[in-house]
Amino acid sequence: MNDKSEYPDSYYLHSANNIVSRDQLTESIVADVCVIGGGYTGLLTALSLAEKNYKVVLLEAHKIGWGASGRNGGQVGSGHNKKIADLEHDYGKALATDLWNLAEDAKDIVRNRIKQHEIDCDLSYGNMAVSDDIRDQREHQEYVEKLNNDYNYNSIFYLDEKEVYDMFHSPFFKGGGSLDKGGMHLHPLNYALGLAKAAEQAGVMIFEESKVIDYQGSDKKVINTDKGQVTANTIVLACNAYLERLETKIAGKIMPINNFVLATEPLDEDEARYINRDNVCAHDNKFHVHYFRMSQDNRLLFGGGENYTRKFPSNLKSYVRKTMLDVFPKLENKRIDFAWGGSIAVTINRMPHIGKLDSGVYFSHGFSGHGIALASLAGTIMAEAIDGFSKRFDVFNEVKIHSYPGGTLLRWPGFYLGMLYYSLKDRL
Ligand SMILES: Cc1cc2nc3c(=O)[nH]c(=O)nc-3n(C[C@H](O)[C@H](O)[C@H](O)COP(=O)(O)OP(=O)(O)OC[C@H]3O[C@@H](n4cnc5c(N)ncnc54)[C@H](O)[C@@H]3O)c2cc1C
Repeated sequence: MNDKSEYPDSYYLHSANNIVSRDQLTESIVADVCVIGGGYTGLLTALSLAEKNYKVVLLEAHKIGWGASGRNGGQVGSGHNKKIADLEHDYGKALATDLWNLAEDAKDIVRNRIKQHEIDCDLSYGNMAVSDDIRDQREHQEYVEKLNNDYNYNSIFYLDEKEVYDMFHSPFFKGGGSLDKGGMHLHPLNYALGLAKAAEQAGVMIFEESKVIDYQGSDKKVINTDKGQVTANTIVLACNAYLERLETKIAGKIMPINNFVLATEPLDEDEARYINRDNVCAHDNKFHVHYFRMSQDNRLLFGGGENYTRKFPSNLKSYVRKTMLDVFPKLENKRIDFAWGGSIAVTINRMPHIGKLDSGVYFSHGFSGHGIALASLAGTIMAEAIDGFSKRFDVFNEVKIHSYPGGTLLRWPGFYLGMLYYSLKDRL
């Protein structure tokens, strides 16, 4: 199947700019670099290398943006999936500063690529962190103060309880929050499709429906799909939560978690502004995070709920709607037009796992829900490293990522218990 029906039936598919069908790999090709995976990580690696005149082939098992890059919440936050104080605690001030600066580079990459390639993906500004517990208020304040004072980041502001209520009119959120005017939101699938178009214009050969089955070799590497083969000097793994057992040396570093999103019917302008006055994106600080924003046509795009099995809940619309109504009970009578899910790759310490295997294979994954910016960064810095400039890439060598106990086979039971514990904590 080489058409739209490969994608999940999401609001993003419904509003995608232009879905192009690309050929399957059915021949043998020689390239400098073979990139495996057609999400932000793979696309940014391929595009950046092609701009440096490398011959690049990108193989995607399904369609461009079929994975998390075409399904996510569209929220582009600052920093990592760890508060800045935790980064300092875990890694010391110097490395925390490097990591913060790299995350700032990541936002620049997203902004600049959208501008450079004129990608029409509804880019808007404003990223809000809220909470359902008034006791978190001090934490929001301290976070803002730390970024303002120690990191000279002045785009983030503390908003008090009344201001948060006036913005969202949600009985769910308690206390204040922080508004990051340097954070953004966008249409994730259109961002991916725009990157793919730019990559092809720069000379990347993209093949869809071309799942890599295995690869071998050291100096020259041979990458096999069902029907074709690529011979390349360098392989880049950009499969994230969909890696499965393609590279067992790194598969145990990530846990694929399913996360779900819905889109309501379009709301009237006043209704949309009532629940999201300034058209920002927002998320709370629950372990099972709630997140939301408005689409270009004023639908509420609401994310919430996770599971850890191979299957999604059978009635996704009602599954996510239940959580949405906790936050926005006034939407009781609104129709739910779409609901879909995707897999997020989460590492044990919530930091991305970026590196190079002894075999010379580069990889980046485990963005732990922060991948729009961080996967864009990872692709860019892997390309830099392949081209011999590894300063930014090397920073991630200092961030150790432990494997899940039990590796790929036995990691589930312990993980599942951990999740149950945190779910319970959320509820209490
Ligand atoms: C529901 C949901 C909500 C999210 N919300 C946000 C958010 O609001 N903000 C944010 O920053 N991040 C969010 N994320 C995370 C973000 O989407 C990801 O971190 C990011 O898209 C990862 O990009 P990627 O290119 O590494 O992986 P993906 O986009 O998942 O791409 C990997 C690709 O590799 C392909 N592949 C796998 N194996 C093979 C193979 N053997 N051969 C060929 N191809 C292969 C897959 O088909 C897939 O297309 C969310 C994720 C989900 C699922």
